[in-house]
Amino acid sequence: MSAVPVMHTRCCVVGGGPAGMMLSLLLARAGVPVTLLEKHGDFLRDFRGDTVHPSTLQILDELGLLSKFQQLPVHRVEHLSGIIGGRDQPLVDFRGLKPFGYLELVPQWDFLDMLAEAGRRYPAFDLRMRHKATGLLEENGRTVGVRVESSQGPMEIRADLVVACDGRHSTLRESAGLQATDYGAPMDVLWFRMPRNPPDPQDTFGIVDGGHMMVLLNRNDYWQTAYLVPKGSDARLRAQSIEVLRDSVAQLAPFLADRKHAIESWEKISTLSVQVDRLDRWHRPGLLLIGDAAHAMSPIGGVGINLAIQDAVAAANALVHPLLGNHAIDESTLAQIQRRREWPVQVVQKVQLTMQKRLLSRALEQAGAAPRIPALLRFLLKFRSVRHIPARLFGYGVRQEHVRTPLAETATGSAGAAAQSDNP
Ligand SMILES: Cc1cc2nc3c(=O)[nH]c(=O)nc-3n(C[C@H](O)[C@H](O)[C@H](O)COP(=O)(O)OP(=O)(O)OC[C@H]3O[C@@H](n4cnc5c(N)ncnc54)[C@H](O)[C@@H]3O)c2cc1C
Repeated sequence: MSAVPVMHTRCCVVGGGPAGMMLSLLLARAGVPVTLLEKHGDFLRDFRGDTVHPSTLQILDELGLLSKFQQLPVHRVEHLSGIIGGRDQPLVDFRGLKPFGYLELVPQWDFLDMLAEAGRRYPAFDLRMRHKATGLLEENGRTVGVRVESSQGPMEIRADLVVACDGRHSTLRESAGLQATDYGAPMDVLWFRMPRNPPDPQDTFGIVDGGHMMVLLNRNDYWQTAYLVPKGSDARLRAQSIEVLRDSVAQLAPFLADRKHAIESWEKISTLSVQVDRLDRWHRPGLLLIGDAAHAMSPIGGVGINLAIQDAVAAANALVHPLLGNHAIDESTLAQIQRRREWPVQVVQKVQLTMQKRLLSRALEQAGAAPRIPALLRFLLKFRSVRHIPARLFGYGVRQEHVRTPLAETATGSAGAAAQSDNP
């Protein structure tokens, strides 16, 4: 007999990122008892993406959360450009697109806090922070729950359905032994902050020159800086003086030269490993994987959060009625979710991979050379309708999901009422 506490719930979602948080909110809002596990004690990690695209704004609107979202420290972006080989080049334009002619940048921890707060309004929403899933519980070839490490010690959570939303280093993907195709990425990202002063540009933009590339995200008080380096070069870089990075940043963005010493040391800089892959199969009996756990996204286009949310909405739409009924979740329902979401993910990953190969690899290889955009492309990009193409693809996606889940009648209450504990 198991000595660890055992808890039962209808649906156990692992990972409180955009995918897990949105799925749990939608299910709980419809009255499905859902337990959401997040291994950290808060969402305050610096290396979370910032871009909330129109597809996500649309979902927030459908949930009545848009005005609340607009009260967060958002920064609106209507168009994006790059400084390529010293020339200003408009690249993406949202202006004129309906219903949202812009994207919003927002610190992701504020966004996740807002979704968690919205979830807590529903009695069926049981968010457990500092609960780390360590593996799957299996019986007769079916997932029946997860093993968990919590601050109170180990426990088991048994559920009729487990949804893995635990990101690109998914523990549950590994535990399930599911195979992914790895598409590779030529770069990793150094992630750090630079002070932002009033005369600085307002835009969020990228700079490519002399074999180096950097993206500056305007977070109002500071620049969130993503400095791209060739994959696997991190240790070699860190063996050099920090002055090398300071000088490169100052060279790429001369307006930052006066504060290059804000880059204090290598210890203050995170290296984010970029990975692009996709599972062949996103499900097993009793288990579904969505978001980065099913398909790790490149940061190109800042679209990973938004695809994770689209997955969550599609999953909730398909799962809510079976979960509200009292029967087992058929694997064909899970397969249907993969079929619906695989194609839109595939399209975006294909574009990302092409951009990685054609633009990023070349830009990072051309040390000392001034990169160039082909003349024809430069000409075409003069037209807003051409700059609308990436805005539509990354901003709205190729198959937009809408909230079809119902709102339960008991729409208020405290967290934690969803789950019943067998053992205290
Ligand atoms: C350098 C870089 C920059 C990026 N920038 C952007 C951007 O600006 N915009 C954008 O849209 N996308 C961006 N992306 C992609 C984006 O980060 C992901 O696609 C997106 O976060 C996926 O959401 P998710 O909910 O599937 O997973 P995640 O956001 O990774 O969330 C997973 C959650 O699960 C938790 N967790 C993990 N393991 C366990 C466990 N065993 N038990 C319990 N909890 C667990 C984690 O703590 C985390 O909270 C970027 C990616 C990289 C690499």
